Amino acid sequence: MNDMNHWKFSASKLLQLPLDPILENYVRQVKNAIFSIVLPTPLETEIKLIAYSEDVVKNILDLDPAVAETKDFIEVVAGNKILESSAPLAHRYGGHQFGVWAGQLGDGRAHLLGEYVNRKGERWELQLKGSGKSPYSRGADGRAVIRSSIREFLCAEAMHFLGVPTSRVAAIVCSRDPVIRDRFYDGNPQTERAAVVLRLAPTWFRFGSLEVLAKSFNEWGTLRILANYLIHTLLPKDVVQNSKPKDCPRLLLELLKQVAEGTWKLAVHWEIVGFVHGVLNTDNLSLCCVTIDYGPFGFVEAYNSRYIPNTSDSNGRYSLRGQWHAVDWDLQRLADGLAPLLCSDDNDSEGEEDFTDNARQILEVASQKALVWRKYAFCAKLGLACGSNWIEFARGGSSVIDEDALEDDDLFSPDELVESLLKMMEETKSDFTMTFRQLGEEELSNLSREKIPKHLWAVKKLSEHSNYQSFLEAYIERLASEGITEQQRRKMMSQVNPCYVLRNWMAEEAIKMAETDDDFSRVRLLMKVLSQPYEVQKEAEEMGYSNPTPAWASCIRVSCSS
Ligand code: AMP
Ligand code: MG
Repeated sequence: MNDMNHWKFSASKLLQLPLDPILENYVRQVKNAIFSIVLPTPLETEIKLIAYSEDVVKNILDLDPAVAETKDFIEVVAGNKILESSAPLAHRYGGHQFGVWAGQLGDGRAHLLGEYVNRKGERWELQLKGSGKSPYSRGADGRAVIRSSIREFLCAEAMHFLGVPTSRVAAIVCSRDPVIRDRFYDGNPQTERAAVVLRLAPTWFRFGSLEVLAKSFNEWGTLRILANYLIHTLLPKDVVQNSKPKDCPRLLLELLKQVAEGTWKLAVHWEIVGFVHGVLNTDNLSLCCVTIDYGPFGFVEAYNSRYIPNTSDSNGRYSLRGQWHAVDWDLQRLADGLAPLLCSDDNDSEGEEDFTDNARQILEVASQKALVWRKYAFCAKLGLACGSNWIEFARGGSSVIDEDALEDDDLFSPDELVESLLKMMEETKSDFTMTFRQLGEEELSNLSREKIPKHLWAVKKLSEHSNYQSFLEAYIERLASEGITEQQRRKMMSQVNPCYVLRNWMAEEAIKMAETDDDFSRVRLLMKVLSQPYEVQKEAEEMGYSNPTPAWASCIRVSCSS
């Protein structure tokens, strides 16, 4: 399609869910509703397109990429033009923030524009972020600034091309509308500029969407409607077909299982690319198990299992290592959010106990599986045989758990190899991304300490460790016992070890150019580079994107301010 005016949202299923009857746009506690009807607030100054994702525009929205440069499209992204087929909504959700129930949160600066079923038959929900106030804005202004919007745009797209399940961003626009932010939470608020992103996900429902309803007894009827909707949209057709009301407990447990397994799989994906989300509150975990709400995230550089990207997370609840615990904790809150549905009809406390037991068991099994997936995934990063289980699973195949593949005689097990490598990386502060990448770039016979070529700077650093030589020998021995050739090893490693991730310094340079000079060339260059993260690219090499992080970058800080 080559004209935004001919492009239409599909019929909305969401509009059939309980809606807030109040149409006025003021901040309030909403009850017994899943959405409020509210329009975006138009930007008032000149709107500029910062960048767009060609892949999203073309392959998800079925639009000719040239449309993204048109005034109509840019105005839709800004929230200044509402298509006739769109019925904007703000979603009411709640959440546990840093372990504490925070009550009603909701889309305080986001507007769901509608649903689109594309020519491949995929259903996507389109949402603006930074598009003005809603009943859920609490004391805030409903806006987002350029820096956080560029980070969300680049990271969401980068994650997709890394193979990590994620929400997507179609485009980002900015204006000169002033937005006041205390960027570093240091008492120095400054005027920044408003930006809006158009982002997409199969669904924007979160764990907190259920939790907010489960928290009040009077809303359990609404909770049932939402759970039923989720069962029918998220579970495979054959699981749901011909189900009767008595099947409800079974289907709720199926939903819990699917979300638990999907979220654990996501956590493994995050860990193997060194991604730390930064704010894994239950309002930021998606029920379709994709990464959402990019804020103070980071990719670990000098490996540190306690790496905390979010300067506001003083206890490290959401550190690299903490993520694993956070997912476990958040899934328990999801189970709590579903529990009332098992006893609300007939005060059946036995039913509730059964559910709690079953739910606990489902979560327990899922977390055990996750540990195995994590092992397989790291094996893939080393090119070991059982890594192919992960590669297959990550591509959408079924998960094969073959415990035998991980146990072995008197050789170092793959597991021990992985853990000893991570430990050496931590102790030598080797770069996470480039150490794995470079280990797969060179013949192992050239990697003994004195032979390491100069350009393999990350492995050189690793080799300073006193255990390096013995690790290398054990690794070579292990590969030989598995019958893996050098060619096979390096091929597998090149598929899972990227050479480019969105490091803070790369984003920071692009943000500076955009903020100060309206120069969006770097954002666009990064978009291009990060769309092929596993391919060495000349332009990226010239930019130093696979070099050691420059010294000036050590002072970059990211807070929740956005
Ligand atoms: P986040 O930290 O972005 O996940 O947001 C947490 C909650 O705060 C959500 O309910 C957001 O809608 C809300 N929020 C964050 N920033 C703003 C803002 N500038 N205006 C209104 N609501 C906001
Ligand atoms: Mg959020």
